[in-house]
Amino acid sequence: MRTYSPYFLRIAITFTALLLFCAALLPVIAEAKGSLRVTYELPDPEDVAAARIIHQSEVAEEVAQVVEDWSLLSQNVTLRFGTQLGPHFAVLQNGKLEIHIPYSFFKEMEKLFASKKYLEQVSPTTSALNTLHHAIYHELGHAVIYSQKTGISDAMEEEAVDTLSVILLISVYADGADIASSAAKAFQLLATEPDSTVNLQNDIRRFQEINCLVYGSNPDKYRELLNDLPVNSVEICPERFLVHHKQWEKIFNIPLPD
Ligand SMILES: [Zn+2]
Repeated sequence: MRTYSPYFLRIAITFTALLLFCAALLPVIAEAKGSLRVTYELPDPEDVAAARIIHQSEVAEEVAQVVEDWSLLSQNVTLRFGTQLGPHFAVLQNGKLEIHIPYSFFKEMEKLFASKKYLEQVSPTTSALNTLHHAIYHELGHAVIYSQKTGISDAMEEEAVDTLSVILLISVYADGADIASSAAKAFQLLATEPDSTVNLQNDIRRFQEINCLVYGSNPDKYRELLNDLPVNSVEICPERFLVHHKQWEKIFNIPLPD
């Protein structure tokens, strides 16, 4: 029989204890849950009104609540309003994840809706807040794809996060389709801007993709959206909505309401 020195035994016991400790931690790590923390940078004087509207609307806080209730994030993310650049998702040098949205984004959207006199029953401010709501979920989608295994390729990421935004809006809010429609309208209006040539095709594609999903979620209710969609949308869009709805249910491992 081999004998072990007390020194070796002590190392073996310590090592085993360490392994058991790590094993006990594993389920916690696997189920790690992230939250969305919302912060507002001090606005410049010209941005005070926009900052106040965004803050009072509680749009961002609603998204944070949805993230919490539905466990959408595996890592913490800070949503920072009042940055110079954005909207975009950023991984900082220290590894922290942030979503940046300048106050000017909301102001530009409000101005866009006001100048085009879109849907008189919806105020430009509400339309701009709806577009902001869509943008937050879009950027949140980038955070999800960065921090979780989704199987979504880099080439498909932009389209996938637009889709996620629409699916979540429709699933979570009673008026989610209207919120998504505002974002679609923003892209349609942007495509008519004089300096839109660079992004023209992209804006039109995003406008059509969002409205295709909205129509697909309830073809009877949103039939009028077909007017601005390609002819085959009546067959394609309901199927597309179902496919993406299922795809995100699988990624989040939760049942999403229809
Ligand atoms: Zn994006």
